[in-house]
Amino acid sequence: MSDHVHVRLGGGVGVNEHGELVEQFHCRCGETWTRTYRVEDGEPEM
Ligand SMILES: [Zn+2]
Repeated sequence: MSDHVHVRLGGGVGVNEHGELVEQFHCRCGETWTRTYRVEDGEPEM
């Protein structure tokens, strides 16, 4: 397997039981992963 930059192909977006936004990605090489976003009311305080 050669090194390459994983290409994040969007696989879908859903909401889990915790009310968080879950985005799924996959790469041509077979790598898959997910990212979870917390959906909060209002804007985040920096
Ligand atoms: Zn890859």
